Amino acid sequence: MASPPNMLERRELGNTGLKLSCVGFGASPLGNVFGPISEDEALATVREAYRRGINFFDTSPYYGGTLSEKVLGKALKALGAPRQDYIVSTKCGRYIEGFDFSAERVTRSIDESLARLQLNYVDILQCHDIEFGSLDQVVNETIPALQKLKEAGKIRFIGVTWTFGFFTFVLGCHLALWTFCHHIATTSINDSTLEDLIPYLKSKGVGIIAASPLAMGLLTESGPPEWHPASPELKSACQAAAVHCKERGKNISKLSMQYSLSNKDISSVLVGMNAIRQVEENVAAAIELATAGKDGETLSEVEAILKPVKNQTWPSGIQQR
Ligand code: NAD
Repeated sequence: MASPPNMLERRELGNTGLKLSCVGFGASPLGNVFGPISEDEALATVREAYRRGINFFDTSPYYGGTLSEKVLGKALKALGAPRQDYIVSTKCGRYIEGFDFSAERVTRSIDESLARLQLNYVDILQCHDIEFGSLDQVVNETIPALQKLKEAGKIRFIGVTWTFGFFTFVLGCHLALWTFCHHIATTSINDSTLEDLIPYLKSKGVGIIAASPLAMGLLTESGPPEWHPASPELKSACQAAAVHCKERGKNISKLSMQYSLSNKDISSVLVGMNAIRQVEENVAAAIELATAGKDGETLSEVEAILKPVKNQTWPSGIQQR
């Protein structure tokens, strides 16, 4: 269903019936992952996101060692909005102490997450970065445990964050499929490796959510955080692309958001935000895309700059603390 041109579009997530705002709120920055953010700033940023039509919020117990969940919970409560008006996803199996996809741990995990989020249920619970666990355990132990949580009404849908090559094994076991940072390729200009998989995922009714459209800060004017695990070659190509845009009066982040958002098979593009200004810019980028279309010329120029590092990724999970 088309949204009015001045409003943030909503897209259905696979066959879940959930309608997500095409720009989703990635809450890892609320755990100070990209630098410190005060609680007041965090609450104001979430409020602005909701005010501007963002209804989808994603977190994990891993982000900031549970801080992201706590702060997001406070911010959502402060909205005073009806619970059914926003969609919350969190994760299980990855913690600051390490990975644990056992049934016992993920069952305990959701209760801890719900307490931190101050919610009775989450809309989506995802196994967080299953490439670090045993696939056998995820399929035969974790997913069945999550199905019990669904029956208990603590979660509505199940998802996974996965690494390329693993996903087909668990595809039949979940409704909402999550993309791991390395494989959001269709959503970031420098990496489009997911593209070939989309028809298959769609044929299974799997919802696709994309994360890190700004490649965790690589595709921003200010550049990535110090801990960013990309190679120096990839970092410098992204920096060159950012400079190129700036010299032409364009903004690399806006271009990147619009690139990711233009793939309509992706239900929501989760971008990490820690300032009201970022919310304004990212929502404006989506509305401008819907009304005026993509900046094809600048996009081609940037793609040419990034060609030598196209689809280059980094070794493993994010070094988030
Ligand atoms: P991202 O690509 O969204 O980049 C975030 C960075 O960009 C932050 O430093 C933020 O301050 C900055 N930023 C945001 N909007 C900006 C703008 N308009 N201009 C300039 N800078 C801007 O990376 P991310 O935060 O890692 O990913 C987004 C979300 O996706 C996460 O918060 C998380 O919810 C989810 N995610 C999940 C997984 C997983 O489950 N495996 C992996 C990565 C991300």
